[in-house]
Amino acid sequence: MSTAPRAPLFPLFADLRGRRVLVVGGGSVARRKVEALLAAGGLVAVGAPMLEPTLARWAAEGRIGHRKGRFEPAWLDDAWLAVAATDDVAVNLAVVEAAEARRIWANAVDDAELSRFHMPARVERGRLQIAISSGGGAPMLARLVREQLEKQFDESWGALAEFLTLRRTRIRSRWPDLGTRRAGIARLLAGPLPGLLRTRRTLAAGQAFDRALRAADGASMHGSVALVGAGPGDPGLLTLRALRVLNEADVILHDRLVSDEVLQLARRDAERIDVGKRVGDGGHTQEAINALLVAHARAGKRVVRLKGGDPMVFGRGGEELEALRMYGIDFEVVPGITAAVACAAYAGIPLTHREHAQSVRLVTAHGKASLDALDWASLAQERQTLAFYMGVASLEHLRDQLLAHGRAATTPFAIIENGTRPQQRVITGALADLPATARLQSVQAPALLVIGEVAALASTLHWFGSAPLTDPSAGCSLARAA
Ligand code: SAH
Repeated sequence: MSTAPRAPLFPLFADLRGRRVLVVGGGSVARRKVEALLAAGGLVAVGAPMLEPTLARWAAEGRIGHRKGRFEPAWLDDAWLAVAATDDVAVNLAVVEAAEARRIWANAVDDAELSRFHMPARVERGRLQIAISSGGGAPMLARLVREQLEKQFDESWGALAEFLTLRRTRIRSRWPDLGTRRAGIARLLAGPLPGLLRTRRTLAAGQAFDRALRAADGASMHGSVALVGAGPGDPGLLTLRALRVLNEADVILHDRLVSDEVLQLARRDAERIDVGKRVGDGGHTQEAINALLVAHARAGKRVVRLKGGDPMVFGRGGEELEALRMYGIDFEVVPGITAAVACAAYAGIPLTHREHAQSVRLVTAHGKASLDALDWASLAQERQTLAFYMGVASLEHLRDQLLAHGRAATTPFAIIENGTRPQQRVITGALADLPATARLQSVQAPALLVIGEVAALASTLHWFGSAPLTDPSAGCSLARAA
């Protein structure tokens, strides 16, 4: 080979259906190549003295042919492609050279120099395939790119490719010239169609397609809303679906609880609206938020309504969905990790435990009126874990109610402030001392309160941030309570 820098490889996708391919080598490397070649419809013959078990079974079943013995150039006679997959460089070289003499394309596995064609790293979504190559020089880079693409393109792209393939003729006759066809497809993909396929609403997807085909060119598509859980703060706790939806958003309406780190992952040119409701500052009311969601979706925008934790847990997600349904706006819901689950995990607290708690209750402790509405007799029962949201302002009342209904004064608690964030603090103690301890440590919102035997495990199982803080005077008040 010449020593001049290689020209880039020419990518091509080959139709192997019904065409003979020779694979030389009978081990697991060969098996992986055979698998891919069979999936593309190739007629595979494997040449090797011995076959590994799966290949042997395929040969016995007639799925592949078997040329037994050492490589002979005559094996190539009826082949279109050849793959040298032995661990013997001399054999691989012989295969490639014999193939070259017959003008048959040959690949030597893991040998970029020797290979006349390469098999790229691939992301497969049904008939949509993305092939990645570094020209053989930096295979790890190609792998990293592949991992990125795996995250970016979810399974619904396969469904989308299938959907459009089935409608190819209609698309072509509706938009005969390339320019309008490209714009038409772009509009189609910016609309609800991908979301409908992703959520497996095939019928509605067909209708959305029909509508788009009927609509005049240039008419705006109708928008949609994704109600998305942003998790507790650590951006690593966002789901892949949430990340994808954030990447496609035109408008993002977010709460105060959503961390900056999460917002930084959203599409850069998306419009961001902070609708965080601060007590007393006259921020957006729920009605105003609903109205904004409806208005932006009606303007054809892809709206993301981003909420801390999970949108359906103390997040008023239900009310917003009701408003959207009332106005006939398409929506989807992307769950997030709720504060109780995330904060407990990051504080080393198992919410259930075979010895201590068989159930967990997620409770809102927002103000006295909502506290008075709770069934304290049942909350005070043992062998359960209580996770109180929005509770930092009513700790006295909460403690008094639990004690009055029979929960032991020594029951452990843990307050997790700014859970999963760099500034996370965990404060532990006994129920009797809860309000005093929180005051002493000046606990700030957002904080989650866990009450139950499991809370004590934070002192041994903590792993994130610093160890839990305990009230040094706790001992004496415990003695008083006993
Ligand atoms: N939908 C959210 C809850 C909203 S209510 C969820 O599923 O998590 C707001 C309350 O959630 C706060 O008052 C606090 O009790 C809790 N919370 C949310 N994020 C938190 C965090 N990072 N650390 C501690 N508590 C948090």
